[in-house]
Amino acid sequence: MIRRQVLKLSGEALASSASDETIDASVVDYLAKEIAHSMESETLQLAVVVGGGNIWRGATGAMAGMNRANSDQMGMLGTVINALALQDAIENHGRATRVMSAINMDQVAEPYIRRRAIRHLEKGRVVIFAAGMGLPYFTTDTPAAQRAAEIEAQLVLKGTHGGVDGVYSEDPKKNPKAVKYEELSFDDVIAKDLRVMDMTAFTFCRDNNLPIRVFDLMAPDNLRRALAGEAVGTLVK
Ligand code: UDP
Repeated sequence: MIRRQVLKLSGEALASSASDETIDASVVDYLAKEIAHSMESETLQLAVVVGGGNIWRGATGAMAGMNRANSDQMGMLGTVINALALQDAIENHGRATRVMSAINMDQVAEPYIRRRAIRHLEKGRVVIFAAGMGLPYFTTDTPAAQRAAEIEAQLVLKGTHGGVDGVYSEDPKKNPKAVKYEELSFDDVIAKDLRVMDMTAFTFCRDNNLPIRVFDLMAPDNLRRALAGEAVGTLVK
């Protein structure tokens, strides 16, 4: 059975924790290798939504007095830079990709067209969605959810990079006794006031019955397992 999934990669996942590189080539290469190898199963169709927090966040500029929409457009352009880095790395591992941007920039990326995105997926290309939704006042979690619904994906994979593998009862870094949930309902998340992803995106997933798997991108073998449909992290459905 074909599994169509959207992987949300935050921009900060591409940055280096060891050095001060905005984009760490070795980290991008690792993620790209896992993605390219996972595609070999031929049962996976994958779109990636990449964030831009390693380069710019709209809220940061707004707090410093910038116009919010202007600052958010800077953030969206940051996601395009990350998308191109990821494209290059995935293609180095032999898998065709297409970057589709929500902001037209014809010399750099294709415009986002739903039917064309689906066609790329059917041909086994990794589609990288850049520039979020093209709209200020959102983070890239929301386009991850919205594009997933639009291309009829069955799952949103929310990869985190802070060393926490899934959703816990409390912050496991502050309380080592915090309990990890294997599975939660959307209503559980709200009742327990847990954090899964940006609230706008979360509400969208709940309203459209789109499951979310939250997992640690960088734990050994975790990304491969998540892409293979294994039960890593926490599933919210
Ligand atoms: N952004 C936006 N609209 C979108 C997606 C992103 O305005 O649809 C802007 C917003 O300023 C955001 C920035 O792009 O802060 C970078 O995205 P995000 O913060 O989601 O990056 P991540 O945290 O995933 O690295």
